[in-house]
Amino acid sequence: MKCTKCGDTAILELRRHNAAFCTPDFLTFFRRQVAAAVRKHRMFTRDERVLVAVSGGKDSLALWDVLIEESYQTSGLYLDLGIHDYSVESKAKCEAFAAARGVPLIVSSVAEAVGAPVPVMQKVTRRPACSGCGLSKRYLMNKAALDHGFPVVATGHNLDDEAATLLGSVMQWQTDALSRQSPALPSTHRRLARRVKPLYRLSERETAAYAFLRKIDYIVEECPFARGATSIAHKEILSRMEAVSPGAKHNFLFGFLEKARAAFERSETVRLEECERCGQVTTGTICAFCRLADEVKRSS
Ligand code: AMP
Ligand code: ZN
Repeated sequence: MKCTKCGDTAILELRRHNAAFCTPDFLTFFRRQVAAAVRKHRMFTRDERVLVAVSGGKDSLALWDVLIEESYQTSGLYLDLGIHDYSVESKAKCEAFAAARGVPLIVSSVAEAVGAPVPVMQKVTRRPACSGCGLSKRYLMNKAALDHGFPVVATGHNLDDEAATLLGSVMQWQTDALSRQSPALPSTHRRLARRVKPLYRLSERETAAYAFLRKIDYIVEECPFARGATSIAHKEILSRMEAVSPGAKHNFLFGFLEKARAAFERSETVRLEECERCGQVTTGTICAFCRLADEVKRSS
């Protein structure tokens, strides 16, 4: 197999692009896909400070690596979820990555903010761990952005993540979620940072290849609570489609973004208020995060 660009030996075939690349040309391809995402959705400029949410996994560390290489002003944000060894190890990966590159990393603890780590939160609320965890992550990402003066938060969601989320929303026709699914969410309130996903054009296989070729040391294990989650079933279904029809995931997601998303956009904008307790945005009087923290406090 030869590199489509230079004719050297290729290390990776990308069937959906009808291409194969050698190492340098793959790295260039990867960086260009990120640059295209940033440009097309006006995610951020070189004058803005970008908060990169890093989990210690391949996607978010690959994203941070690209943005550092491209001279963006970045800081990392690691949220310590308190999920036993998984959190200890993933935090160590983020700290080692930041130290090796001399870039700042902000660490924020969910247990400190909510009153209990994710495993305890799950027991107390008797809801799936991912629901309280997802809520806490979104809240603390925005809080860190506000506290430290970042207008925008970037996450490592890739093409596979986005296509799986889309399939999940379509399976239940969650029209609210469909209207919000986008590589770039604008700020609709002065206390809300923009949220962007610069890897949405790159598959999980490509981010894994990038992390490997750039010798990024990342945590390979998945979160123990993710096992058996429906999102994994959705990823498997889409990967089977991709195997028989290269480009299936890409067409599903990009077709939605280009042709269908507008149909779900709401005509009226949701009115956002400031939480009476913490000042972060909410549609009610007390935000969902403060209510979660209350629930945790009451039962401990
Ligand atoms: P996930 O929801 O675990 O698939 O993660 C999606 C994205 O959210 C990652 O690529 C990160 O950018 C971000 N993220 C997930 N977990 C954490 C964490 N513990 N700390 C900071 N960012 C995270
Ligand atoms: Zn609140």
